[in-house]
Amino acid sequence: MNFRFSRYDLRLKHTFTIARGARNVSPVVILELEHEGIVGYGEAAPSARYGESVDSVAAFLSRVDVARFDNPFQLESVLSYVDGLSNGDTAAKAAIDLALHDWIGRKLGIPLHQYWGLDKSKTPLTSFTIGIDTPQVIEEKVQEAEAYPILKIKLGGENDEEIIRTIRRITKKTLRVDANEGWKVKEQAVEKIKWLEQEGVEFVEQPMPASDLDGTAWTRERVTMPLIADENSLRLHDVPKLRGVFDGINIKLMKCTGLREAVRMIHAAKACGLKVMMGCMIESSVAISAAAQLSPLIEYADLDGNVLITNDPFDGVRSLDGRLALSDRPGIGVERNI
Ligand code: MG
Repeated sequence: MNFRFSRYDLRLKHTFTIARGARNVSPVVILELEHEGIVGYGEAAPSARYGESVDSVAAFLSRVDVARFDNPFQLESVLSYVDGLSNGDTAAKAAIDLALHDWIGRKLGIPLHQYWGLDKSKTPLTSFTIGIDTPQVIEEKVQEAEAYPILKIKLGGENDEEIIRTIRRITKKTLRVDANEGWKVKEQAVEKIKWLEQEGVEFVEQPMPASDLDGTAWTRERVTMPLIADENSLRLHDVPKLRGVFDGINIKLMKCTGLREAVRMIHAAKACGLKVMMGCMIESSVAISAAAQLSPLIEYADLDGNVLITNDPFDGVRSLDGRLALSDRPGIGVERNI
């Protein structure tokens, strides 16, 4: 068993702006794990928020020696070894996790949702993300998102009111809001959320900084809208701490080291009475399709990273009228485009 990896620059259709900054290109690392002539694909989409970059991913992967294991079916042993190599590097670890799972599905000739015993007709709707922008560009993006019944709106900047006003002028669709830790003071968070309750918003994601769990709990007591943790919900050990503070968690493969831990987080969240959303970074169809394989287990999906780019190197999960449509392709369900 061995693997190789290379950098790939995902080009964004629009400059993507959230509360933390803006970009036009999002570099990822594509990994190919080979054993017995079968190749499994993985991807790392590193985020500076979690201390990763393509360089840190490459440095980490260069330290990983999978040749010491017999085959990808030893997934538990391989991934425990990989996770033990460092404290962070979660996206780099996810690349290996995804490739191992993809390889196993390909070897068995079945898609991963079938491997886990999931019903592919039970996938949720996925939202389409509208980044922070000028009213004119936001209008354009809302038109582009016509096929999606749910929009996820990035707020937490200077012009929250203007953004919601612009969107509400052109659509009555269900809105979900992601503040990306942008509301720094608890009184401000309460005021914003109460306003969003009037605007027909379904829930708000990460209203306050991850470091202010007490402020978030204070806020939650004063609003009726559900709060979903993202920057507060990284790995399995975070889940029990969020009980009573949030109403749900957003699991991302790149934060949690991949599918193996995502499955555990889903079950832990359910045990804690928390709803589950699966989200993404800007990712190609490799990581998006991998997350989609688990989606029959979750309430909310925000798996649109691959439709925000113009040069997806893979063909994978599609969405039909906003609903994730899983195919019968084996593994994570992708084929290379280029
Ligand atoms: Mg988020």
